[in-house]
Amino acid sequence: MRRRTLLVVLSLLLLALGACAAPAWGGPDLATHGVVTEAWTPTYPDFTPYDQIKDVLDQLVASSDRIRYEVIGKSAGGRDLYLVTVAEPDVLAHIDDQLAFRRLLLTDPAKAQEQLRNGADVRAPVFINCSIHGDEPNGTDAGLQLLRRLADGDDAETQAVLKHSIILVNICQNPDGRVADTRSNGNGFDLNRDFLLLTQPETHATARQIARWLPTMFLDLHGYYSPMRIEPCTPPHNPNYEHDLFLKWALPTALGMRDAVKAATSHGVVIPYQDLQQGFEDYSPIYTPQFAMYYGAVGLTIETFAENDLGTIGDYTAIWSGAEFAAANGEAMQIDQAEQLRRGVIGYQREQIRFPYAYVIPAGPAEQRSPLQAARIVDHMCTAGVRVSKSTAPFTAGGVRYPAGTYVVPLDQPLRGLANVWLWNGEDVSYLTNSMYSVCATSLPQLTGFDQAIVQAPFAAALVPVSAATWPSGRVAPGAGTRYFLANDSNAAVRAANQLMADGAAVSIVTGGTAALPTGSFLIGAAKATDLATVAAGEHVVLQPTAAAGIATKPLHPVKLGVYGTSDVRWVLKELGFAVTSLGATSALTSYDCVLANRTALSATNVKTYVRGGGGYVGIGYDGTSGPLGNMLPVTINVTNAYDNNAIVRARYRSDGLVGAFFKADDYAFVYRPIWFTSVKAGATVDAWYGSSPDWYVCGYWRDRAGAQGKPAVVSGSYGVGRVTYIGFAPALRGYPEGQYRLMANAIWYAMK
Ligand SMILES: [Zn+2]
Repeated sequence: MRRRTLLVVLSLLLLALGACAAPAWGGPDLATHGVVTEAWTPTYPDFTPYDQIKDVLDQLVASSDRIRYEVIGKSAGGRDLYLVTVAEPDVLAHIDDQLAFRRLLLTDPAKAQEQLRNGADVRAPVFINCSIHGDEPNGTDAGLQLLRRLADGDDAETQAVLKHSIILVNICQNPDGRVADTRSNGNGFDLNRDFLLLTQPETHATARQIARWLPTMFLDLHGYYSPMRIEPCTPPHNPNYEHDLFLKWALPTALGMRDAVKAATSHGVVIPYQDLQQGFEDYSPIYTPQFAMYYGAVGLTIETFAENDLGTIGDYTAIWSGAEFAAANGEAMQIDQAEQLRRGVIGYQREQIRFPYAYVIPAGPAEQRSPLQAARIVDHMCTAGVRVSKSTAPFTAGGVRYPAGTYVVPLDQPLRGLANVWLWNGEDVSYLTNSMYSVCATSLPQLTGFDQAIVQAPFAAALVPVSAATWPSGRVAPGAGTRYFLANDSNAAVRAANQLMADGAAVSIVTGGTAALPTGSFLIGAAKATDLATVAAGEHVVLQPTAAAGIATKPLHPVKLGVYGTSDVRWVLKELGFAVTSLGATSALTSYDCVLANRTALSATNVKTYVRGGGGYVGIGYDGTSGPLGNMLPVTINVTNAYDNNAIVRARYRSDGLVGAFFKADDYAFVYRPIWFTSVKAGATVDAWYGSSPDWYVCGYWRDRAGAQGKPAVVSGSYGVGRVTYIGFAPALRGYPEGQYRLMANAIWYAMK
């Protein structure tokens, strides 16, 4: 509603000025980085534009000895992220003492509990995360209101909050979105779905602060629900965190907020845990407060009721109430926070879940399908504070022998819940609820494509802790040959191939493979030696000289790629090193080498004319394959009933074709609103199938899945003299399925002119 009002206002203004150009509008789905300027005016007087936030903070710091702030990172669009710390001056001056205690929580939670019980002066950190959705701007204004009060308030309530807490305010979690009035950041990502893999700089920065501060309370400010909505959540709850300890404090916090909001604004509050049956769950670790819950935080989403000044007061009242609650109960809350972490250390078991003893993550190519992806996730865990070790000698676990250098994630650790929710195989939640708010299939080994072993029984191994992964070293291998072989088995390899092409190297892809040079392998011909060495080192890939001749190949060149896609698809393609041009629904297509789409309403007439004449088309999901776009190949497209269906499934790839190259017969796939193909007739080739074994479905929320079992999921073929691939999986959704990004690249290599 606000956007419509605003457009009318802007239009009237432009009319009044006699302007004829469209307003400089960022739009909901930014295609570029950092070019959007303040293009809108707020609809409420107390709104503070992003550009003014630093000045406000500087003034507060100049006038108060209780406040300081730091830049904790930059947004996708290059804007500073500010974390403000408020505490009593003496505490602020010795903030390292407080941080040392937070580290103790992560290293020895039992000792931390003992110190709390002995009356240590430990302030409860209350973390306020403001306006992660840029078009829900009240959170930042409420945060500023809170800071103004804390800066110079000398009333008893303010003194009490300062005496017992440290208030941390991430004053604008999404600067790009605030500037452009968009939900997403400058890369088009919904940041409040990105705490699984932290692909965006904003979420990465905040996650580091959560791991640094271990907030006792974490409040994430959103809009708009009327009545206002304040968590805790409906079921299903994720079994990986200690819900009893969470709820003990979350519910009274929310009840206090409800009463305070009612008194201050006359607005009611719905608390999903007690007022709703389902549909507002805290199952998935993709959300910000739910990520913080794995560190023992009382993590709550707060949805204010309206985008106006009273809505800011709603947010402000809730966070003030939360801060007062944390100040009054900080010691007991922190003892329970430490208890959640201690439960991990002592191996406390609950009915809902059985935690294994450890996960083993092989590092080398002989035992690991993707050493690069394993290193990527080891780094991810280390950043979050999950304890990861590496073996210094061979050992046996779960009946399997592993070499030195293997990673081990023992679960007798404070962050076992976080480690487990990332490394487990997930569970089928299809019948735990009738609807899911968002994606719940989030197991990283299958999503991102590396092998993990779940080991139930204790084992002995010589282990040393690591703070980062040892990445495989990239190099140009010695040897004779006229070309270099590059295995097409990682996102890094695709990037390397694209970069070498961009640098002018002759690159081709094997179409008729052998055991030594499988189909889909890159062959690098004439190139500058320095380029080869630099790219190999930078991407951690090996370029192997080969003298093989007579192999069927398709020459590649920098792809002129037209994309009619969602922002995540465009972002992933850029991550893979493709130059991406965004298309409109009726853009002229003839100048492109390949067109890729996963949105509705791309002109099928244009696409068909283009492909018939030799173009390439890659259609992803129902939106990229349905309607007239779907009859370029002789197949019938089937789609699941519900939009919220998402899952990780077993998948079988045909590896002797380009599209399925370097995937396996026993692989995995992520699906979202899945489609599958039946009645596949001559002229269409199946490149991948849904798994057919009884355990083909791994985890997620998908009830009407029986029809998909064993069915084709990716198909390709010719249309006219051009080529088409339809992909039924969701290889880019929100950047989650890192292990499948290159399925899109393969489809592009196959289809491109
Ligand atoms: Zn929101």
